[in-house]
Amino acid sequence: MNKKYRRVIIAGNWKMNKLPSEVKPFLEELKDAIPEHTPGCSIVLCVPATHLASMSREKHRRIGIGAQNVSQFDKGAHTGEISVDMIDDLGARYCIVGHSERRADNGDTDEIVNAKVHALLNRHITPILCVGESLEQRDRGLTIEHITYQVKAALYGLEPEQVKKVVIAYEPIWAIGTGRTATDEQAQEVCFAIRELLRREYSAMVSRKVCILYGGSMNAKNCAGLLAQPDIDGGLIGGASLKVEDFAVIVREGSRAE
Ligand code: PEP
Repeated sequence: MNKKYRRVIIAGNWKMNKLPSEVKPFLEELKDAIPEHTPGCSIVLCVPATHLASMSREKHRRIGIGAQNVSQFDKGAHTGEISVDMIDDLGARYCIVGHSERRADNGDTDEIVNAKVHALLNRHITPILCVGESLEQRDRGLTIEHITYQVKAALYGLEPEQVKKVVIAYEPIWAIGTGRTATDEQAQEVCFAIRELLRREYSAMVSRKVCILYGGSMNAKNCAGLLAQPDIDGGLIGGASLKVEDFAVIVREGSRAE
């Protein structure tokens, strides 16, 4: 499978960390630490909703703005929720959907994830769709079955042209925030299986176009091997995106992998 059809995406997920006032100094430091031009590599920071306005103010052409969650509803009586229009108005061009922490803590079911993917694409915001198996599922040999189910459910009802615009992040739950990364081979195996699924369900062209990321304790030390895999087009990075020097190493590696 040829990587030339896709760009590399290095996306940070700040989760519930940092303050809005920390956005500006972080971005200033980051801009100095990454290459001036990264033509085939998009850099994205997915920040808490409270930080989107600061991200927008400090906006830099090299760094795309991402949200971490959005409501599946357009507007109205949904206290505490944030709509696609709201994050769009604050400059978000990406939004994480279906992160395992939200599936576990906030009851985001496959149906809800699917509704959020539709809502984002209707507003031309790129969903970063997270899928991943638990350790128990892996130990029982159910990884590919589970991932297949999650991907199919999340993409249900989309046109092939819309599917091309979705970014899929393979994030084994047992690797998130644990320091236990999937091996290059384990990550490649699942990302390849996702690409094959897209080929079967849609077409070879759709499968070639979709960016598939790996996430789960990716860091400055292990990113080179993961990003070199033929079906891994970048990373979704939690802990290591909070420190400029670590994130910058991954961005530089991503720029080389394009
Ligand atoms: C994540 O939150 O999506 C993630 C991959 O976290 P970490 O890199 O810290 O494992």
